[in-house]
Amino acid sequence: MNLELTPEERAFQAEVREFLEQSLTPELRLAGRRTTSVFSDKDDNLAWQKILHAKGWVAPAWPAKYGGTGWNEMQRYIFAAECARAGAPSLSPMGLKMVGPVIMGYGTEEQKAFYLPRILAGEDYWCQGYSEPGSGSDLASLQMRAVQDGDHYVLNGSKIWTTHAHWANRMFCLVRTRTDGKPQAGITFLLLEMNTPGIEVKPIVTMADDHEVNQVFFDNVRVPVANRIGEENEGWTVAKYLLEFERGGGSAAGLKVNLERLKSMAREEAADGGGRLIDDADFRRKLAIAGVEVDAIEMTEHRVMAALSSGKNPGPASSMLKTQGTEAKQRLDEIAVEGLGFYSAISQPEARKPRANVPFVGPEHGLTLVPTYLNNRAASIYGGSNEIQRDIMAKLVLKL
Ligand SMILES: Cc1cc2nc3c(=O)[nH]c(=O)nc-3n(C[C@H](O)[C@H](O)[C@H](O)COP(=O)(O)OP(=O)(O)OC[C@H]3O[C@@H](n4cnc5c(N)ncnc54)[C@H](O)[C@@H]3O)c2cc1C
Repeated sequence: MNLELTPEERAFQAEVREFLEQSLTPELRLAGRRTTSVFSDKDDNLAWQKILHAKGWVAPAWPAKYGGTGWNEMQRYIFAAECARAGAPSLSPMGLKMVGPVIMGYGTEEQKAFYLPRILAGEDYWCQGYSEPGSGSDLASLQMRAVQDGDHYVLNGSKIWTTHAHWANRMFCLVRTRTDGKPQAGITFLLLEMNTPGIEVKPIVTMADDHEVNQVFFDNVRVPVANRIGEENEGWTVAKYLLEFERGGGSAAGLKVNLERLKSMAREEAADGGGRLIDDADFRRKLAIAGVEVDAIEMTEHRVMAALSSGKNPGPASSMLKTQGTEAKQRLDEIAVEGLGFYSAISQPEARKPRANVPFVGPEHGLTLVPTYLNNRAASIYGGSNEIQRDIMAKLVLKL
């Protein structure tokens, strides 16, 4: 495996760096830095999306015929790594990375023509209605009913943990259209508008004091049959296709940024017995171990890149990267909270908003440590929990 970039790749990397340098305003960088979970707030991620859209770089993974960049795997990897390095706000994945590819793969020509340009431009803001109370890892057990009435389905039930449902104007969701037979065989994939009568969004405020997830209730909600993606009762195939795009942990580039921030914090903070935290032998040992883990993840990413570039499938490596990436992220958070101690524990949700003018207590890097720590506990749960990923690896790699 050759880890050196080719001259063309180096030129591409330089072009991306220059663009990011010019386009990322201080406000956008601050929004990136203050993000305590996967998602930046809607205003920030849409502001960045519009800049990328104007440049034609908003959808690196989409085919050029639908408005994507047409980049190869390596260019996409370089672009993602450079965005993380530069501290760009994260874009919402629900349109660009989830329902967009599904519409390309399973939508009708009318659905593609209507939805895809709107997703690219950020005109629609999507949320994902998969999980229900009682149906998470065992997604096929979902109960939300859709009964056909003329040219509409009538929906009753509830979705939970719906990220950004309070901001979204559209949802893609899984509904039960048949109750007999195998549970997987009675699921249908629907698109709906969040302002349809009968939909109620109730906030779930997390331990980090963030309002990111919601429970969404459906009471006789009428959705046109024309909004179905794929055939009735074949939504499970569509859902599984989408989950391939959802998996992802922390990229090595993002983890390296976290590690560097941690080191710069340790240079400023005092150690328990006097002196600087960065000079404390035990703390340095933890940083070194974390650094080796991040390097190992980077090597795995390169291996996957090499496989994809030669037309191979990453196979169970995506499960491995999800597990290792999220666990490395959580370890870095633990080291950071432990390093800063009391100042990381002050809850200041208003002060950490990028446009806030509320003075904060303690150093700026303390604002986000505990909320990030708490939010990232969820990283090993969403997108297929790490226990489920281990099951996949046990079956596919160890043949257990
Ligand atoms: C912050 C956050 C945002 C989310 N956003 C969305 C969203 O936008 N849309 C959406 O649809 N969903 C969303 N989810 C839901 C997420 O997909 C589910 O939480 C996840 O699938 C796990 O389901 P569950 O919470 O029902 O836990 P459960 O499935 O009940 O699992 C509980 C525990 O049991 C373990 N477990 C379950 N089954 C097995 C097994 N077979 N073998 C071994 N261990 C097992 C799990 O690993 C977990 O540790 C979000 C979740 C979080 C935390």
